Amino acid sequence: MTAPKTKPVEAIQIKDAADLPKKTTVVIIGGGIVGLTAALTLAERDVPVVVLEKGRFVGEQSSRNLGWIRKTNRAPDDVPLAVESDKLWAKMNERVGSEVGYRQAGIMFLGKTDNDIAAYKGWLDAVESLELGSKLLTPAQIDELLPNGVGEWKGALYTPSDGYAEPQLAASAIANAAQKKGAILIENCAVRTLSTTAGRVSGVVTEHGEIQCDNVLLAAGAWSRRFLGNMGISFPTLPLYLSVFKTNPLPQISINTAVGAPNFSFRKHIDGGFIMMQRGALDAPLTIDHLKIGTQFLGALKHGKDVMHIRLNSVFLEDWKLGRRWTKEQITPFEKVRTLDPSPNQSFNQDALNNLKAAWPEFKDAEIENEWGGVIDVTPDSNPVIANITKVPGLTVAIGFSGHGFGTSPAAGQLAADLVMGTTPLIDPTPYCFERL
Ligand SMILES: Cc1cc2nc3c(=O)[nH]c(=O)nc-3n(C[C@H](O)[C@H](O)[C@H](O)COP(=O)(O)OP(=O)(O)OC[C@H]3O[C@@H](n4cnc5c(N)ncnc54)[C@H](O)[C@@H]3O)c2cc1C
Repeated sequence: MTAPKTKPVEAIQIKDAADLPKKTTVVIIGGGIVGLTAALTLAERDVPVVVLEKGRFVGEQSSRNLGWIRKTNRAPDDVPLAVESDKLWAKMNERVGSEVGYRQAGIMFLGKTDNDIAAYKGWLDAVESLELGSKLLTPAQIDELLPNGVGEWKGALYTPSDGYAEPQLAASAIANAAQKKGAILIENCAVRTLSTTAGRVSGVVTEHGEIQCDNVLLAAGAWSRRFLGNMGISFPTLPLYLSVFKTNPLPQISINTAVGAPNFSFRKHIDGGFIMMQRGALDAPLTIDHLKIGTQFLGALKHGKDVMHIRLNSVFLEDWKLGRRWTKEQITPFEKVRTLDPSPNQSFNQDALNNLKAAWPEFKDAEIENEWGGVIDVTPDSNPVIANITKVPGLTVAIGFSGHGFGTSPAAGQLAADLVMGTTPLIDPTPYCFERL
């Protein structure tokens, strides 16, 4: 039971406060894939940038995800970002000078009921003008693309141009490329808060001292609500805990398409194994935030109530003890939890594997080789916020990716970099504004 191994990122460790850079143009808070793609974009544009990571680079969501890169089933206003990301993924190996495992192998969502198929049709109608090449498949067409299955499906939603990459390869390669282009990457360096002068961002206060800067990009993943909350800005996100596993290599299985069924999902790993999870069961341990902002999520809960396991367990107390308010002199929650590493739900994982074996008996030799947990940061409408914060000039955020930010990260990072520097945005950022929440 270990978190997946990433390719090492040669980040700087601060041994003495004097090692901390005194000044830069942009500080990025958070060394996940979103902060790193923004850093790469800025460094390629010769903008001085420092990325500060409280733990180790790519230690949280960005190394723990499934690696799916999809347009399918996204909110229609979130699709243009995914389309731009596809273009960037296609050139990523060349851009970063290393293999990121990107394969345009298609993604298929299987449907078991008339309701599933009606929902797929509804999505297809909503994105028709975007010409994504997505289509509904009959059971016979499913068999043709995914042979040897015995599951009884009503149909499927399929997008041949979707795909996946290897998160552990990709995020580390992007980090190393950003560094080669001039970005400064510092690990074990939590940002406690911002410094402002006349209401405008003038720097960040870290656990090792202060860095002056003109702009800050907050890309702090699941910690963003806490960080902003301490500044008096309420950003509504709730955590969801997911469990993932990797199987042994199964060279005899020829399926390359990524598949989402109601009670399992899988996609091929670059080593011939499969990365899987249980789609029909997610852990939602209660926190104080559920009491404070839970009502904003009632719409999302209506759709997800069958899959979410809402529980009151030790997470409530642990989260409460971390604290919500601090001064720049105090130890913050970011120093108390360097890397969020929840235990996986082994019974969800085992169920997913059993469900898959029942539907595709050729997976009979699949075993759980490694399993891990991860926490996603979900917004009420499941879209992220990629925006300048008008209340704090100089602060931009790229947060709340709601469990599907790996796929869109290349374009999200570029859009965030555009907003930080005030250059023409890659796409219209309106769907990602802060005020909508
Ligand atoms: C199990 C699982 C499966 C998923 N599957 C998919 C998928 O198939 N496809 C997809 O598109 N997405 C998927 N996702 C979602 C995807 O992983 C995330 O949306 C994406 O990685 C978010 O990247 P990020 O950079 O915003 O966050 P993170 O990777 O979480 O990075 C944020 C970083 O900020 C650091 N940080 C926080 N606060 C501070 C501070 N104060 N100072 C310094 N550093 C700080 C954290 O330590 C962390 O490293 C999945 C997620 C999980 C957990």
